[in-house]
Amino acid sequence: MSASIFLTPEDEQEVVAAIKQAELETSGEIRVHIEGHSDLDHFKRAVAVFHELKMDATAKRNGVLIYVAVQDKSFVIYGDQGINELVANDFWNTTMDTIQSHFRAGQFKEGLIAGILKSGEVLKQYFPWEEDDVDELSNDISKS
Ligand code: CA
Ligand code: CA
Repeated sequence: MSASIFLTPEDEQEVVAAIKQAELETSGEIRVHIEGHSDLDHFKRAVAVFHELKMDATAKRNGVLIYVAVQDKSFVIYGDQGINELVANDFWNTTMDTIQSHFRAGQFKEGLIAGILKSGEVLKQYFPWEEDDVDELSNDISKS
């Protein structure tokens, strides 16, 4: 499956809208990156993409990347150090389970949207939205 049929343009708009909605509750910044295949270990690849997208440049180091390798049927949730300093290692488990169950059923858009909204919920416990919030990272889906 190619990255282009993974989500239709309409699906993508809904995913972007979910990011926007999630970021209304938290100062954290959520991004989605989709690609077909990576030869790298997916966690390492997600970390590399995180840096390529300059997601480590947020003021509170609270960026979260949802990385998807479509052909490899794999995804990673990677949060920046500001989050990892505050939360347990299993912080993302329920979010990962949510995405996983949708993806297994072939519900890619639904999985991403549910994962994004859940990420927003967990982020807001530690990084609530603030009056002077800035949209530090684009909400658009990144692809390669
Ligand atoms: Ca923000
Ligand atoms: Ca954003």
